[in-house]
Amino acid sequence: MKAAAFEYQRAQTLEHATQLLQQADGRTKPIGGGQSMGPMLNLRLVRPGLLVDVSGLAEMRQVAAVPEGYWIGGAITHAEIEDGRLDALLSDCPSLAHMLRRVAADIAYRAIRNRGTLAGSLAHADPAADWVLTMAALDAQLQCAGPKEKRWVAMAQFMSGAFTTALQEGELLSGLRLPRYSSAMRWGYYKFCRKTGEFAEASCAAVFDPELRVARIVLGALDGAPMALQSLAAAVAQHGLAALSDEAVSRAVAQVAPGKDAMQRQLLTAAVKRCVKQVFEVK
Ligand SMILES: Cc1cc2nc3c(=O)[nH]c(=O)nc-3n(C[C@H](O)[C@H](O)[C@H](O)COP(=O)(O)OP(=O)(O)OC[C@H]3O[C@@H](n4cnc5c(N)ncnc54)[C@H](O)[C@@H]3O)c2cc1C
Repeated sequence: MKAAAFEYQRAQTLEHATQLLQQADGRTKPIGGGQSMGPMLNLRLVRPGLLVDVSGLAEMRQVAAVPEGYWIGGAITHAEIEDGRLDALLSDCPSLAHMLRRVAADIAYRAIRNRGTLAGSLAHADPAADWVLTMAALDAQLQCAGPKEKRWVAMAQFMSGAFTTALQEGELLSGLRLPRYSSAMRWGYYKFCRKTGEFAEASCAAVFDPELRVARIVLGALDGAPMALQSLAAAVAQHGLAALSDEAVSRAVAQVAPGKDAMQRQLLTAAVKRCVKQVFEVK
């Protein structure tokens, strides 16, 4: 099937983009890399009147150190992160740079990574998406830009369900802010995919920073938003891998993802164990 007819306009500035989106009659949509929008158009799951291309906006192509941490523009592509675009910015926390490179490199195939953007992935809010999980584990703050104001929403509040976000009509996701981590930061990331390049069937991200007392284990590829395993993370921070018994992990998984069949429970439990073990490995 082919897409229904639509108009296309490349926005010149963030303000221009938000004005175009605001004029919307509900039929104007932003487009980033088009890697999810393209299939949705072709399947006629969406029929926009106008697509506003935000992939070239200068404000969304920037990365910068800011007082609260690091700004990463939403139009940065998965491939750019894979290729080290954030390495200089994150040079005081190479572990964080490494985590982002690794996550990016495992998204889909290179052709998709070349065009797919950070903001597009987060705004699309697929429960199995890699950035949705990673940014929850890293406690990212997302910038939602409207024509009148910009507001910050924590990743934990941004995604309210599958393909549902806190973005209001006419708002753009312009980028995100990551907090600083210390050089003691450690991470793990594990996902089960049937084959390389496919979305995850179970996924887990972990971020530990003993100097900053950060301990997060977050489960992804659920029915909705990623879920934090708070008690398990606190136990691992205190007791290390001794806290990672089958029983403790199964209990933690069952609390945030009830009603799963035995196979799904096993995948989720194994994803958590393999992810958290990585935290204790020297990378
Ligand atoms: C075969 C295939 C395999 C894939 N595998 C994976 C995978 O393993 N892991 C993974 O995480 N992803 C995967 N993806 C998705 C891919 O990462 C996409 O790049 C991503 O989901 C969307 O990014 P995009 O920039 O292409 O957004 P687009 O396709 O342009 O847009 C997606 C949605 O977000 C909205 N949007 C786009 N930009 C903005 C913005 N700045 N502000 C507000 N709304 C915006 C659009 O209106 C649209 O609704 C896969 C995709 C395909 C086709």
